[in-house]
Amino acid sequence: MNIHFWGVRGSVPTPISPQQVQSKIMAAIQRAKPEDLLNAETRAKFVSSLPSWIFGTAGGNTACVELVNNNTHVILDAGTGIRALGKARACPDKYYLFFSHFHWDHIQGFPFFDHAYNPNCRFEVYSHYDDAEKYFWDQVAEPYSPPSVGKTIAKNINFNRIYEDEEFMLDDMKINSHKMRHPGDSYAFSFEYEGKKFVYATDVELKTTDYIGDFAGEGVFRNADILVIDSQYTVEEVYRKENWGHSSFCYAIDFAVYWNIKKVYLFHHEPVYDDKKLNSILEAARWYAQYINHSDIEIYLAKESQEIIL
Ligand SMILES: [Zn+2]
Ligand SMILES: [Zn+2]
Repeated sequence: MNIHFWGVRGSVPTPISPQQVQSKIMAAIQRAKPEDLLNAETRAKFVSSLPSWIFGTAGGNTACVELVNNNTHVILDAGTGIRALGKARACPDKYYLFFSHFHWDHIQGFPFFDHAYNPNCRFEVYSHYDDAEKYFWDQVAEPYSPPSVGKTIAKNINFNRIYEDEEFMLDDMKINSHKMRHPGDSYAFSFEYEGKKFVYATDVELKTTDYIGDFAGEGVFRNADILVIDSQYTVEEVYRKENWGHSSFCYAIDFAVYWNIKKVYLFHHEPVYDDKKLNSILEAARWYAQYINHSDIEIYLAKESQEIIL
């Protein structure tokens, strides 16, 4: 499986601000020594040695993750990240489009996806919602979109209703799903192929009861190789924002430990957090895993344009 992050931000698209660019430049300049600036080669070496929160960015596009397994092309959510996916990829014969739920940040990219206007591109949509088709098309209805969008957007889209905890095959991959705690619900998906398991679980408010005692969802989560999980909040925020539908990184780690998961990608980043803050959350999450004696879990920050091979 090849997994590619096209959008990792939560709630609303978050372009990097001029102040954030200035902070990155200042942080880089403060680290530079005279010998780093001698010539093009030393400068390039210096830049590539900078921490990724200075040199790079997690990105501001909302949720969109691509999964390619052999000739099966899956897109998980159609947040604004899907726009860049459409620019980078030729349309395969068919896209399988999975929706965790229909909150705006998970659908709003589709009208800006080039392949949505390609008459030769077919889409099979999978969701747990009876009214998925209506939710999907409402965003391109007037007055929310120009009339031309509704008229020209792809018509070769087929909607498939699926049910939680009911496995099914998609070509040669086994798919399962589980309902998560989120306002209006959201669904986590697992994808399995030849003993490898990838799980996408965004927009979920974990509680301690989810990993003490018997929590349903075993078929989706148990022994996953990779878990992409909502970790929008700090520990302090999670108490202030109860019932907002998102998790702290500590709960995400506890959840991964409970289900014996190998690698965790923190996802659905809070819009107000800059790259420096996200990096501090990553460091705190790694510290927390050590603190609970589970430093064997690998923890990463999901970043735009990052590719994982499983
Ligand atoms: Zn969301
Ligand atoms: Zn949501």
